[in-house]
Amino acid sequence: MHWLEKGVLGIDWSDGHRGVYPVRYLRLHCPCAACTDEWTGELRLKADDVPMFVAVNDIEPVGRYALKFTFSDGHDTGLFSYTFLRRYCQCDTCVPVKPQEPKSRRLL
Ligand SMILES: [Zn+2]
Ligand SMILES: [Zn+2]
Repeated sequence: MHWLEKGVLGIDWSDGHRGVYPVRYLRLHCPCAACTDEWTGELRLKADDVPMFVAVNDIEPVGRYALKFTFSDGHDTGLFSYTFLRRYCQCDTCVPVKPQEPKSRRLL
């Protein structure tokens, strides 16, 4: 695990894949109960709720399955399992070129 650049975390997976994780992206997709609805898996967090420049103050391994991030906005309840991280990898290979998220999210 290392910093690719400021605010972008890199994780080298055992299969040789190089994962790319912008910190703000991780913060926005935090899997904890406060940020993500446990039942629907829907994000409760809005992009506006997270500061533009959020950093990671601390990363702690939890057992063999997850990493615990302490973000600079004080949020520290997010456990990012390796499965989760792998699925949410933001490298060019895992995120095929696609249009940006539509600006107006449909309101449910
Ligand atoms: Zn959270
Ligand atoms: Zn990837």
